[in-house]
Amino acid sequence: MRETTPVKSPRLNEQDQVMTTKYPYYVEPYNETERPRRFLEAFSAILQHSNYGFVLDTYSKITTKCARCACNCQVFMESGELRDVPCHRTELLLRVYRRYFTLGGMVSSRLFNGFTLTDRYIDEMAENFYRCTACRRCKFGCPMGVDHGLMTHLARWILAEIGIVPKALVVAVREQLQGKTGNTSAIPVVALKDTCEFLEEELLENYNIPAKFPMDVEGAEMVFFPAVSDYLLEPDTLMGNAAVMHLTNGSWTIGTGYYDGINYGLFYSDTHLCNIVRKEAAEVKRLKAKKVLIGECGHASRSAKAFIPTFCGGKKAPPVINIMEYSHKALLDGRLKVKSGAILDRVTYHDPCNIARSKWIINQPRELLEAICKDYVDMVPGGQMNICCGGGGGTVSIDEIRKFRTGTGGHVKAEQIKATGAKYVVAPCANCKKQLREVCEDNGLHDVEIVGLHDLLLKALDLEYYGITAPEKKEEEE
Ligand code: SF4
Ligand code: SF4
Repeated sequence: MRETTPVKSPRLNEQDQVMTTKYPYYVEPYNETERPRRFLEAFSAILQHSNYGFVLDTYSKITTKCARCACNCQVFMESGELRDVPCHRTELLLRVYRRYFTLGGMVSSRLFNGFTLTDRYIDEMAENFYRCTACRRCKFGCPMGVDHGLMTHLARWILAEIGIVPKALVVAVREQLQGKTGNTSAIPVVALKDTCEFLEEELLENYNIPAKFPMDVEGAEMVFFPAVSDYLLEPDTLMGNAAVMHLTNGSWTIGTGYYDGINYGLFYSDTHLCNIVRKEAAEVKRLKAKKVLIGECGHASRSAKAFIPTFCGGKKAPPVINIMEYSHKALLDGRLKVKSGAILDRVTYHDPCNIARSKWIINQPRELLEAICKDYVDMVPGGQMNICCGGGGGTVSIDEIRKFRTGTGGHVKAEQIKATGAKYVVAPCANCKKQLREVCEDNGLHDVEIVGLHDLLLKALDLEYYGITAPEKKEEEE
């Protein structure tokens, strides 16, 4: 597949990287004075304006420190280190909570000269909470149901409030919320349109499908928000999306006011999470549309599905669907016709944590793949208990920790992929795709290809049914 129009993404240059290197990731210069006091003030403010206090109270009481959660953590499985035991990490935050925000903790600390939050302790949290991918698999090993991913999220938010957050995440969110382009990959509207026109030409030339990427269509049913990086990196996924929409008469549009599904707020700040989902809801309203349609991206889907209702009007908020749900329904309705067994090589499926852990989307992609693949095999374990790619929680975008991500974090995933013997790993998530390509590269799985679900669907469409003659293959002609 040819590359789409090159658009420069806002990668860090060497000069930018001269900054705090105390942690394994780069951090922009920030006020390093009185960090313990400022950490506690930020923690206090968050407790006042959220429900986290209830969760912390509950977890403080029920956690048994049995470490059964560790058996489910892909990082611990590989490292075997105490700091990677989920409940050990969660305890870092619970200890601060108990000491400074509960009566018992305050009294016992006065009487027995107890724990004090120090700079060193803050540094330990800053390092450890970015070794967790917030994949939430450990929750299912915990007999008490403690959600360590949620604790990672909260700890990262407090750290971010005092200035400790990986620069890679900050740069992306800053461009999305304050930058000229308003999206994480800094793609201007003119480049977006150019890319989509190019993809339309490719679809026509290679498949004879006259599909469009409709822009700013008022009154369309769904407004489309893929991970915006797909416009740079995943042309086949997007062409598959457009082809399915065209053949099934889907009513969709891309809004040039806002077109990015990525939401790194989910990984370090509820404030940013809220502001980003509001941009999606506002674009749906501007275009007088009814629904939010998220592309192939796990965290983009979860952040919209779970938080658009929370932050954008409750029951009045626009419903959110993922494009795999759309295509699956079209298959069941008989509007999407595919060729059975069209994909000959062995195919397996990686469940993105953000859509499978909650059991939201598990069977739909499998049914689509079983309809088009001759040799589909499931990963073991699969579905809700599938293993994280190792790049979750936004860590995939932190290039400087690649060795950790693909080694300590990704080795278990690499072994799981290897055991399937698959040629294609379908990973319907922009973050998973990047991470899994690097995992395969760094773990010697050079014959494996990481693709999107719609990349394969595009190859398996029953064009004859739609009255489309497949173009003659050029190589064969020559
Ligand atoms: S959320 Fe995932 S990465 Fe984090 S501790 Fe649990 S299993 Fe490990
Ligand atoms: S990057 Fe993919 S596997 Fe990893 S946490 Fe996100 S959705 Fe899960």
